[in-house]
Amino acid sequence: MATISENIQQLRARMERACEQASRPVHSVTLLVVTKTFPAEDVRAAFEAGERRFGENYVQEGIDKIASLADLRAQVEWHLIGPLQSNKTRVVAESFDWVHSVDRLKIAQRLSEQRPPELPPLQLCLQVNISGEASKSGVAPADVPALAQAVEALPRVRLRGLMAIPEPAASLAEQREPHRALAELLAALNRDGLALDTLSMGMTADLEAAILEGATVVRVGTAIFGARTPPPERPA
Ligand SMILES: *Cc1c(COP(=O)(O)O)cnc(C)c1O
Repeated sequence: MATISENIQQLRARMERACEQASRPVHSVTLLVVTKTFPAEDVRAAFEAGERRFGENYVQEGIDKIASLADLRAQVEWHLIGPLQSNKTRVVAESFDWVHSVDRLKIAQRLSEQRPPELPPLQLCLQVNISGEASKSGVAPADVPALAQAVEALPRVRLRGLMAIPEPAASLAEQREPHRALAELLAALNRDGLALDTLSMGMTADLEAAILEGATVVRVGTAIFGARTPPPERPA
C-alpha cells in the first residue's frame, strides 16, 4: 500500500496537471487535507510530507486532534468543513482558523461574538447548496447575496468566499456545471462590492472539474488516506 507521503506526491502531481490544463499557476490552488476519521498520527505524516492545512468535519473530533497535535499548532491551519450547530460555535471560535460551512447568519454572529480578541479574525466561507438538493446543507444561491453582506459587516470574522459540495456526477462536463455556478456566484458578489478570494470546491472525485472552474481550495481526503470506514452516527 502506498504511504501517505506517496499519495500526497501523486495528488500534488494531479493538481499540477489540472492547473496546467486550466492555464492557471500551480500556487493558485491550495490543498486542504481532509483528515476526518483518520488518527492524529496520519495528520502528522501529512505534516511531515509538507502539508500545513487540515480540514475536519466533526467539531469534537477536530478539537481532540488539534489538542493531540498541539506542538504543530503554530505552523498549521485548522479548517472546519462540516455542519456547525449554534451550541458548538464557542469552541470552534476558540480553536479553528477557518469555517467553510456557514449557512446562516446566527452562526456567523455567534462566531464573531465568541472569537477571542487575542486571535486574528476567524476566516469564513458560506456553504452554498449549489446542486439544489433538499437533503444537503447550505444556503440557497438566491439567498447568498443578503447573507454575504450581513456576514461581511461582522467585526471578528472575515468573509473569504464560498464553499460547495456538488452532487456526484460521472463526466467531467457534468462535474463542471455546479462548480461553474459557484464561481459565477462569487463573481457576482465581487461585482456588488465584496472582495472575496476563496472558492472552496473540489474533492477526490472532482478536483479537476473544480480547478478548471476556478477553485482556490480543494478539500481532499480519500486520495491521501484511502477510503474511510463510515463513522458512527453522531451529531456534529
Ligand atoms: C469528506 C469531505 C471532503 C473530502 O472528500 P474526499 O472525497 O475524501 O476527498 C471534502 N469536503 C467535505 C465537506 C467533506 O466532508
